[in-house]
Amino acid sequence: MTECSSLEDFVERHRSLFILTGAGCSTSSGIPDYRNADGQWKRQQPVTYQAFMRDETTRRRYWARSLIGWRRIRGARPNAAHRALARLEVMGRSEILLTQNVDRLHQAAGSARVIDLHGRLDLVRCMGCQRRMSRDELQEQLIRLNAGWLGLTATDAPDGDADLESADFSSFAVPSCRRCGGVLKPDVVFFGENVPRDRVDAAARHLMRADAMLIVGSSLMVYSGFRFVQWAASVGKPAAAVNLGRTRADGLIALKVEQACEAALAFLL
Ligand SMILES: [Zn+2]
Repeated sequence: MTECSSLEDFVERHRSLFILTGAGCSTSSGIPDYRNADGQWKRQQPVTYQAFMRDETTRRRYWARSLIGWRRIRGARPNAAHRALARLEVMGRSEILLTQNVDRLHQAAGSARVIDLHGRLDLVRCMGCQRRMSRDELQEQLIRLNAGWLGLTATDAPDGDADLESADFSSFAVPSCRRCGGVLKPDVVFFGENVPRDRVDAAARHLMRADAMLIVGSSLMVYSGFRFVQWAASVGKPAAAVNLGRTRADGLIALKVEQACEAALAFLL
């Protein structure tokens, strides 16, 4: 494996990059990170697929929090890290950008060669008939049905969360599918849920075509992302990582840059 002294050197030497991004890419756009520098949960663990599908109270709590949290995601704008990675694509250096983020900020920055590994938060899917609708359309329904809950938006997170934790969710109305009455779920992969097989296969084919892997802003604690680093290592493709704090793949990567994503990628802009 060739030694690279800097990220610029790494990008210079490897023509075609398989780019894997995570939450660290979006933190300076105001989207909170789940984990601290040790890869541990900062706050309570996100809702699981099993709890969401099984339990109506879990769904009421999820959508009540989402009614308020969606505004922040909806208003988020791409930052310099997203723009730097879009620039790599313009330079013809991106084989694919595989993102674990569900915020669509890479696309907002101009990246087109993107696979949303964990889905997208701007869409909602019916678990009965598979019909998709926009999150904005559901937001209008949620507001119409739960006007009284909008007062809680006065206190934003983290205190807003605490307020919501103590609230009685039985009065929160959750719409179901207009066509079949099925359960509506954000079109994202929840914890405890598998990434669709065809999506994994498509990403794996891109990995085989790439010369090297570039990881940006991910601790790789979730196996769905980590396995791509394992596959790259197993076929001898070098990997570089930009992340504040440790990653699960520290033993598998050739170059580690412990900087904020925007700073580490600034040489591209
Ligand atoms: Zn349906």
